[in-house]
Amino acid sequence: MGELSVKSVSTIRTVVQWCFLFWVVGIGIRFGMFVNSVESGAAAPLVSRPPGVEGFLPIGALTSLKYWLVSGKIHPVHPAALVIFLAILLMSLLAKKSFCSWLCPVGTLSEGAHKLGRLLFGRNFRIWRWLDFTLRGIKYLLLLLFVKFILLDMSAEALARFLDAPYWAVSDVKMLNFFTSMSLTTMVVLAILTLLSLFYKMFWCRYLCPYGALLGLASIASPFKIRRDAVGCTGCQRCTAACPSQLAVHTCTAVSSPECTGCLTCVDNCPEQNVLVMQPVFWKRPLPMWVFPTVVVLVFMAGIAAGMVSGHWQTSLSYADYQKLIPLLPYLSH
Ligand code: SF4
Ligand code: SF4
Repeated sequence: MGELSVKSVSTIRTVVQWCFLFWVVGIGIRFGMFVNSVESGAAAPLVSRPPGVEGFLPIGALTSLKYWLVSGKIHPVHPAALVIFLAILLMSLLAKKSFCSWLCPVGTLSEGAHKLGRLLFGRNFRIWRWLDFTLRGIKYLLLLLFVKFILLDMSAEALARFLDAPYWAVSDVKMLNFFTSMSLTTMVVLAILTLLSLFYKMFWCRYLCPYGALLGLASIASPFKIRRDAVGCTGCQRCTAACPSQLAVHTCTAVSSPECTGCLTCVDNCPEQNVLVMQPVFWKRPLPMWVFPTVVVLVFMAGIAAGMVSGHWQTSLSYADYQKLIPLLPYLSH
């Protein structure tokens, strides 16, 4: 079997991204069918509830994480939220912010948007350097707020109160309604973000996503880094021009920035052989191209499998619980 080429790695990333996106959409549809069973008064659900839907509850997952740390127990209501959160965090600790560029559906759509923008306008635009720097701070500020209010300020009692409450129990249904019954404000905000994503590369991810900010900070510890062989490098700067995170790759010997998503676009665009590589800092010999994508996918799958095997995947809520709680939805607040 021939060596996996750089180009085919790029294609593999696109395939992985879109497969994951369709999988997530499938989870959404299945959960919608489950909720529909409840709302139509069916005695039994048409389909079982997919626990993967809890991946859309990252704030609750952060609360669950602190609850786990202070109590030593994983809260049983939405355990998959925590499992998915930890799997993604582990991906960042080991393999850069790879969740953003390999799996995250929002990242996939953002990437699609800026590619479409390039097609429509002939190019993507750049925000002035000072403004770009200031805007990038927003996602860290949002992250700081979540860390302060959840990780620092919430007492053990407050955590238990939140996780035991009906509001947390049906937060998955609330999230579904957010997408299926959008308010006008939500639609306007999404339209503005889509428009900005057409003009500017990864607008949401670069400036606003607190989840990405957290993963970026975790990724500083990652042994995998983009490394440049300064001797073989001709200084053509194609890597820098192609980088969706706008990093000056051609000036680095190792890219340590928390903005690097491990997308391998720079490697893809380098015309020199083995000059730009993604490999662990301790590894000195060339590594086959398939290693990094395999690590990315396997770490995520292993995290999910660990949650399933240890019995922290299915919710403790029954169909009957959903039948009781969903009609209360309009009256529930946290
Ligand atoms: S440095 Fe390379 S791997 Fe990192 S974000 Fe830029 S193009 Fe992607
Ligand atoms: S694309 Fe390759 S050769 Fe060109 S500047 Fe980047 S690392 Fe050097």
